[in-house]
Amino acid sequence: MKYSVNLKKRKKYDVVVVGGGTAGASAALSSARNGSKTFLVERLPFVGGTSTAVLDTFYGYYTPGKHSKKIVGGIPDEVVAGLKKWNSWLERPNTHGAGTAVTYNPEYLKVVWEELLTEAGVDILLNAQVVDVIATDDKHITGLVLAMKNGLEFVEADYFVDASGDADICHFVGFGYELAGVDEPAQTLTTTFKMVNVNIDKRYSIKKEEMFRLMEQAAESGQYKLPRRDGSDHITPVGNMTATIMTRLDSFDKDEAGNIINATDAGLLSTAEIEGRKQSMEYIKFLIDKVPGYEHASLSSFGYQIGIRETRRIYGLYRLTKEDVLSAKKFDDQIGVCGAPIEDHHGGQGTHWVYLPDGEVCGIPYRTLVPVDSTNLLVAGRCFSATHDAHASVRSMGQTMAMGQAAGLAISMAAKEKCSVKKVNVQGLRQALKDAGAVVDIEDENNG
Ligand SMILES: Cc1cc2nc3c(=O)[nH]c(=O)nc-3n(C[C@H](O)[C@H](O)[C@H](O)COP(=O)(O)OP(=O)(O)OC[C@H]3O[C@@H](n4cnc5c(N)ncnc54)[C@H](O)[C@@H]3O)c2cc1C
Repeated sequence: MKYSVNLKKRKKYDVVVVGGGTAGASAALSSARNGSKTFLVERLPFVGGTSTAVLDTFYGYYTPGKHSKKIVGGIPDEVVAGLKKWNSWLERPNTHGAGTAVTYNPEYLKVVWEELLTEAGVDILLNAQVVDVIATDDKHITGLVLAMKNGLEFVEADYFVDASGDADICHFVGFGYELAGVDEPAQTLTTTFKMVNVNIDKRYSIKKEEMFRLMEQAAESGQYKLPRRDGSDHITPVGNMTATIMTRLDSFDKDEAGNIINATDAGLLSTAEIEGRKQSMEYIKFLIDKVPGYEHASLSSFGYQIGIRETRRIYGLYRLTKEDVLSAKKFDDQIGVCGAPIEDHHGGQGTHWVYLPDGEVCGIPYRTLVPVDSTNLLVAGRCFSATHDAHASVRSMGQTMAMGQAAGLAISMAAKEKCSVKKVNVQGLRQALKDAGAVVDIEDENNG
């Protein structure tokens, strides 16, 4: 064992969930509600991950296109109900892009997540990062090493969910994964920012295409450094405030030995955080100078951290592919569905979109949450088992919540049965998810 027995030991849990993003928060909630003593460890000072630290819009709740269907339920609905209580929610109907958006004020969302989790009895530890695992030789995990201001501590559990987004626990224990950027270019990074004092009516006097033309023109003039020419801004539930997804930064590089490094590398991330704010200033200058409605606007805030789309994707019992997504494939063990297009933010000036047939969805198999070598750990969220393209569809937050709800329930079922995650009664899991309001199956025909 690498660590001395002197590490301070916390109390033991049935289930530890690592990472409190949309996937991890949903997993912890689901596990605790099923009766397991559940501990949620999050390195940030709040829960929500990308949903509260970077963004303000849920996609994946609806299929895009003319025949839009609602395709998530359960926890995603409870989260929206919580936001509605604070009147901090709006739907932005959309037949293109990723479909109808659910936009919220992330400050309220932090509180909504906290209320749901504490009501369910989840023990939450913020400002604590898992930095290693304790495991047997056959990769059965027995505990996690936590790093905090007061040093290292140790927490034991019988079962674990890796919802770190970056598959940190799988990395530490030695499970197989694909490092984004090695086989295919990894999706780019984005620093988000919000603008206040925007004249919204004036802003929407021009359409998206005109906005892109202005961006292109400004970039071509050489006066503004705007690498992405189809960046977007949108209204928020806060008056005269817009939020943006505009900047674009490389998410992988090579180290001195020629190995690929990506957004799990603190050095690469440090450079990207600084460069992301610098690039944002170019877009802010462009908006104020060139876009109607922004004449008197000002920067309100940057995202708490840079937005990371993909880093490590585990090798699971099944690997979801582009063909599965685009053919709207269904699976006997699916625990949720996805209708979002493949949305690839590559390194060029635009964004690549590929759609499923209108109104259709593909299934998300339980096996994509089960690392090949795992006995007592599931993953949930953006580190699930998928190729680069399939991931570019299924990473929307409606789906990461659905995966989290399923993984939390499944791990709790495994904990009660004291069985391997490979032996979970998947049809029982699917029924229990349906009973909890989740959308697990959906008919193929359009509902017009
Ligand atoms: C710029 C950008 C724009 C996007 N736009 C949209 C959009 O508009 N709508 C949409 O639905 N989706 C969007 N996505 C995709 C979506 O936001 C993500 O795929 C999703 O939020 C991932 O959720 P997650 O819970 O899997 O991971 P994360 O949200 O990344 O959560 C992981 C959590 O784990 C914590 N963590 C990590 N490592 C450790 C550790 N070792 N110990 C303890 N805690 C740890 C992190 O702090 C974090 O809170 C976007 C993504 C990006 C980056």
